[in-house]
Amino acid sequence: MSASPALDAILARIAAAAQAAGRSASEVVLTAVSKEQPWEAIAPVLAAGQKVFGENRVQEAAQRWAGRREGLELRLIGPLQTNKAQEALVLFDVIETLDREKLAHALIAAADRTGRLARLYVQVNTGEEPQKAGVAPLQADAFLDRVRGELGLPVEGLMCIPPAHEPPGPHFALLARIAARNGLDQLSMGMSGDFETAIGFGATSVRVGSALFGVRSGAV
Ligand SMILES: *Cc1c(COP(=O)(O)O)cnc(C)c1O
Repeated sequence: MSASPALDAILARIAAAAQAAGRSASEVVLTAVSKEQPWEAIAPVLAAGQKVFGENRVQEAAQRWAGRREGLELRLIGPLQTNKAQEALVLFDVIETLDREKLAHALIAAADRTGRLARLYVQVNTGEEPQKAGVAPLQADAFLDRVRGELGLPVEGLMCIPPAHEPPGPHFALLARIAARNGLDQLSMGMSGDFETAIGFGATSVRVGSALFGVRSGAV
């Protein structure tokens, strides 16, 4: 028996959504979003074999995963301040929230100092929401050119968080179009409420928190 029926259920839903989209479930990575979750909620999911975890704060993630990180893949899915770039590079395998040139420069400087570089995703603010991080859709091509060209940073894919009160499909479709025309095939999109829809639009990783671990308490 699996240590985590909740994980089994999410993986089954991912597999069904992939199949419905004519895709293979193996094309979709589950990022288990452990931010703000008590360790009692995370432990069974870890014991059941989940390896990829998402966090939105550097400090919180460092505390939660200290001494437990071996063999896991940690992904930063929250905004990153330039003064935390080095700490983030040391802790995370993947940073999904590259969204400005200043941060690209900070990551390059940190990579020079540490000899490490995370896999990078560019976050696109598909809804052009003022309070949300991410490159504006119309600036995405130029930003990707600059980062991959002049700055020489490899970019693995794109990430988005659609506006909370709009149907997410058009946002997922927009992210997929921007990725395709820039020769990128990795799409981090879809959360608890819409990951099946995202898989239909080509998500290669989905970020699921509350549907897997329960509602976040806010306590760390
Ligand atoms: C918190 C968070 C998630 C997970 O949200 P749920 O709705 O709980 O699945 C996914 N992506 C990002 C960027 C987040 O900050």
